[in-house]
Amino acid sequence: MSGGEECRVAFMWDDSFEQFDNGINHPVRRGRFRAVRDYLWDQGLLGNGHTLEMRAEPLPEELLRIVHTTDYIQMVRQISETGVGDIDIDTPGFVGIYDTARSLCGGTTTGVDAILNGEIDHFVSPTGGFHHAFPDHGGGFCVFNDIAASVCLLQSRGVNRVLIVDLDVHHGNGIQHYFYDRSDVMYVSIHEDPEWMYPHSGRVEECGSGEGIGYTVNVPLPMDTGDSGYQYAFDQVVSPLMEFFQPEFIFMLPGFDTHFLDPLAHMVTTTSTVRYTTTKIHAAAHKFSDGRLAVVSGGGYHKDALRWGVATVISVLAMLPYSAPEESPSLTEDRETWDEIHSAVETVRNTVFTILGL
Ligand SMILES: [Zn+2]
Ligand SMILES: [Zn+2]
Repeated sequence: MSGGEECRVAFMWDDSFEQFDNGINHPVRRGRFRAVRDYLWDQGLLGNGHTLEMRAEPLPEELLRIVHTTDYIQMVRQISETGVGDIDIDTPGFVGIYDTARSLCGGTTTGVDAILNGEIDHFVSPTGGFHHAFPDHGGGFCVFNDIAASVCLLQSRGVNRVLIVDLDVHHGNGIQHYFYDRSDVMYVSIHEDPEWMYPHSGRVEECGSGEGIGYTVNVPLPMDTGDSGYQYAFDQVVSPLMEFFQPEFIFMLPGFDTHFLDPLAHMVTTTSTVRYTTTKIHAAAHKFSDGRLAVVSGGGYHKDALRWGVATVISVLAMLPYSAPEESPSLTEDRETWDEIHSAVETVRNTVFTILGL
């Protein structure tokens, strides 16, 4: 199918998503996903005959065992049974976390399976994109790595060239780790400068190793990058890489936490950037990947920024009308910020693009 025809778009859901509860003061608290879903119904983006809601099954345990160590799985199980202990300093444990984490990751694997079976072209999950989860530990609100598990699923079904475009404001250190030495999975991340931003990785020099050199691409951007700076960086880096790599499947983390309302970051974008990047990635999916595109939420810790962002993505993929309410970030175009953006982009192009022969 080519872009322009009507795409089949699923919104992944299961009531168990709401069981993931880090407590009332945590950025990932109960009610976060429900608010997104209610908003989509209110805006006519669900229940309209153009999109469908798809029931998410939990992440299969056989995939879990491929991407995580036995010791780590056992540790999560134990925390889940007793309620004692934490996944990491910022990722509290609670009774039932094992099943709930599998359920959240299952939005991604169920959606990928449905794309592979030809039931849908694209899906959007209000959760997933747990890019800080490693084989043997979690952190950064992430328990299990749904992307790593989904790549295993894809490759077991003969889909080999997978592109992950991670626009979350934080660097996806877990995803990077899984695929660092591989050229069949390209990981491209635009994020806020690791100098001050969690998880303090994702410098341009981290660009893969061995076979994978050039297939990890990190673009750290300054605070106050704003919509135009962000879109410039995307065009200069992500667009040519999509053309070069010609992926068979694309994952996108839209970066809802780059929004100016987000309490954890300082990138100062609006949903116009979500619309911009989704439109380009959607077009690339139809050009190279037979339309196969999975959108997983990743971060997004302001209720409005998150629901406006998810609504924007669905409106682009399903070609339905939607506009977010008026957004007015306070941002002054600043010469120094632009110098830093240009310098980050140039460094990527001079290193990674040179390695790849672009
Ligand atoms: Zn489409
Ligand atoms: Zn994030």
